Amino acid sequence: MKPLNADLHCHSTVSDGLLTPAELVRRARDNGVELLALTDHDELGGLAEARATADEIGLRFVDGVEISISWGDDQTVHIIGLGIDPAHVDLLDGLQRVRSGRDARAGRMAAELDKVGIHGAYEGALRHAGNPALVSRSHFARYIVEQGHVKDVKSVFDYWLAKGKPGYVEHSWATLEDSLRWILGAGGTAVIAHPGRYRLSKSERQELFVAFKDLGGRGIEVLSGSMKEEEVREFSGIARSFGFLASRGSDFHGPGESWIDLGKMPDLPADLTPVWSQL
Ligand code: AMP
Ligand code: MN
Ligand code: MN
Ligand code: MN
Repeated sequence: MKPLNADLHCHSTVSDGLLTPAELVRRARDNGVELLALTDHDELGGLAEARATADEIGLRFVDGVEISISWGDDQTVHIIGLGIDPAHVDLLDGLQRVRSGRDARAGRMAAELDKVGIHGAYEGALRHAGNPALVSRSHFARYIVEQGHVKDVKSVFDYWLAKGKPGYVEHSWATLEDSLRWILGAGGTAVIAHPGRYRLSKSERQELFVAFKDLGGRGIEVLSGSMKEEEVREFSGIARSFGFLASRGSDFHGPGESWIDLGKMPDLPADLTPVWSQL
């Protein structure tokens, strides 16, 4: 049987994506996606529009979210919730609290960037974000490219915004416990996003997986836009040894700004249980 083309991780203008929820859903369908989840950062505001569009064009749709958490020694980890109830009050309240820190963080980032010659970044990033509660490093990156400092968003992260670079500031997001409580409370399934992107040692990574599983986490992204083949093998192995469900998501943010387009990843290894079999 042909594997389902599921894409369970992407972003709209409601967080740091470039397409509206409706545009995103149509593009997914045009790319051959058969099951789509919208997973904006810490925000559910795009789900109604995405679902309405998906219903209109006959695409299967899953309500999702990508929650920012702090883990260990100032590491940021992302936990995806799939099949959540978008009206669940604890989830909505929790996410609102997570978002409420973004504006002040952006001010601190802009102050650091100013010291290294990038001026006006708070106002510039806010212009791209539209909403201070959603302002992210992606919006800073777009402003910095627009100002002509470097040619693309990826270079902005390499020079200024990645951990350890001059525009990076520490920040406290939700805890792992919070994210699992909100997702499970809202009837969803929790999945570790892009496990290869965290700067964790093998043993720290193992600790994260153990803690996540102990708290009721069930899935891991085995295929993510930015993953190399050897990482797919590594995280397939983790899925097998922990008994995790396997997820597949592009992490698409917009044309020209993402590793891979909606639905364009390889298939999951055939022996893994896809997370969508449980949604
Ligand atoms: P924030 O939530 O404000 O910390 O921003 C994180 C977002 O920045 C991620 O969701 C990605 O969209 C983007 N991002 C992080 N690292 C990179 C990178 N190296 N290249 C391009 N985009 C990145
Ligand atoms: Mn993002
Ligand atoms: Mn992420
Ligand atoms: Mn993402």
